[in-house]
Parts: sequence; structure tokens; C-alpha cells
Amino acid sequence: MHDSAPLRLGISSCLLGEEVRFDGGHKRDAFLVQTLGKFVEWVPVCPEVEIGLSVPRPSLRLVGEPEEPSLVVQKTGEDLTGLMQTWGEARIAALAASNIDGYVLKKDSPSCGMERVRVYGPGSAPSRRGSGIFAAQLMERMPLLPVEEEGRLNDPVLRENFIERLFAYRAWREFVANDPGPGDLVALHGSYKLTLMAHHPQRYRELGRLVAGAGKRKMPQLLAEYGEGFMAALRYRATRRKHANVLYHLAGFLKRALDGADREELVALIESYRTGLVPLVVPVTLLRHHFRRHPHEWVSQQSYLNPYPSELMLRNHV
Ligand code: SF4
Repeated sequence: MHDSAPLRLGISSCLLGEEVRFDGGHKRDAFLVQTLGKFVEWVPVCPEVEIGLSVPRPSLRLVGEPEEPSLVVQKTGEDLTGLMQTWGEARIAALAASNIDGYVLKKDSPSCGMERVRVYGPGSAPSRRGSGIFAAQLMERMPLLPVEEEGRLNDPVLRENFIERLFAYRAWREFVANDPGPGDLVALHGSYKLTLMAHHPQRYRELGRLVAGAGKRKMPQLLAEYGEGFMAALRYRATRRKHANVLYHLAGFLKRALDGADREELVALIESYRTGLVPLVVPVTLLRHHFRRHPHEWVSQQSYLNPYPSELMLRNHV
């Protein structure tokens, strides 16, 4: 189901171990370098170095209103916001043109932090409602792009969610590039049914209504609206309860093919998953095994059973 070419991801370069931080150090992240790195072509970006600052350098901070902060040199108060944004405009355009599939940002940075970055105002305590200047611009210019911070990727559910969104975003980008018609959109929506149901069943139905009117709308607008709703739905956490519903739905297709003992085993495994005793990979592996022996055309079109390379082992957590 997934394209096996390596993902191309932008990344704050200090996370790869590059010594570009203000103090001359790095923030190498073992999961990103060693595990995700096997499937990824990294596009490292250090905004502060790329705008011409040295290593080491005086530290920067955000000041002003959290919604529209300025990036300043802490010691001198020199304002670098305009410089960063002018550079960011061209850099983000180049990243978009190179078809990146996602971005991993360094948390807490006044340039790269995605959220909860300290913004210093007139009061004594900083607010934690800011985003780094480059990060904010990236998310505004490329609103569908999957973006995460390295800290949040330590959470196995957020990690799986991010990886799934990377592959879904790439599939969506390639789909749009092929000049799809209404029937193609209907097919794509159908193939993501179970994935979307595991994240947000209501959003799945809303997208379904959009697709139902596909023939009556101009495709570019429809695709823009669908793409936004599709990626937004996948940002919701897929819960154990919703996954279990999807698994039971899949098991329904095997009702006639399996004998009583196999059916009981499958239901017991889905229940064990639902109650937190085994990881998702256990019932999914059994389902895959049964569908290999008893192929079902609709199921084989679903992204759900094969959303990304299994080597990533992201469904192994309990
Ligand atoms: S957080 Fe961003 S700006 Fe700071 S060192 Fe890392 S890549 Fe450079």
C-alpha cells in the first residue's frame, strides 16, 4: 500500500548530531538517527546558522505577544525577526518544491520550536504559548505537512500517529499530482476508510459527504477541502476503542472463511488488545495472515493493514 521510496523529511539539524547550537553542542536524538533514519532521507536545516549567525553565538529568545513574538538576541536586544522571516520565505518555498513529506522540529527553540516555546513579556514569568519564528512560518505556509517535535515522538502513540501521517501525506501529494477526477477521489476515500475510522469516525463521514458531491464541484477546490479535512482527521489520536471497532469490522469479512476455533481465537485477540493486554500488532498480524489465505478485494485496498513499513515496529507498544 505504501510507497517504499525513502521519506524525505526536513529536520532541525542539531537533532542529527550536528554541532550547530548556540553553545556549540548538538541534541542528537537516537530514535530519529538510528530507527527512523533507516527509512528517511533527511533534509537538515538550522535556521539560525543559515541566516548567518556563528557557532557558538549569543542565545536568542522570543519577546512580546505570544501570538506574534519577535526573535531577539538576549544580550543586546537586536531584533532578528525580519531577517529570519525573509530567509524563511525562500527556504520554505525550496523545501516545498523538493517535496518533503514531513518535518521534525527541535522543541523549545525560539527558531524551531513547534509549540509551548517561552515568550518573554513585561511580566516576570514567560508565557509558554509561543512557536519558534521559523516553525510558525513553516506551519503556516505548508498547513498539511505533518510536523512534530522530537520530545513528543517519545510518546509511542504520537510517534505512530506521526509516521502514519507522513505516509498518508505523501500518498495524498502524489494523488493530487496525478490530476485525479471525482472517481479517483471516491476510490482514495474508500481505501482510507478504516484508517480514518480509527482516528475520527465523524470526520470520515464528513469527508464522505464531500466526496459524494464530487461530480458537482470544481476539482481544485474539492481537493483543497478534502486534503485539509483528511490530514486534520489523521491528527486525532487513534484510540484502542476505535482500533478495536475497526478490527471487528475486518473480522466480519472472515466470518464465512474461518472455522469456529479460528473465529474464537481472533475475537479473543481483539478483546485482549481492546483491554490493553497485547499490542495492536498482534491482532493485525493474525488478520493479515487470514486475509493472505482468504483474500478479499475491498480489504486488500485498505491502507489500514499496511500503513507503513512493518520494520518501523510502531504498533508494538501496549
Ligand atoms: S534548534 Fe533549530 S536553530 Fe537551534 S540549533 Fe537546532 S536547528 Fe539550529
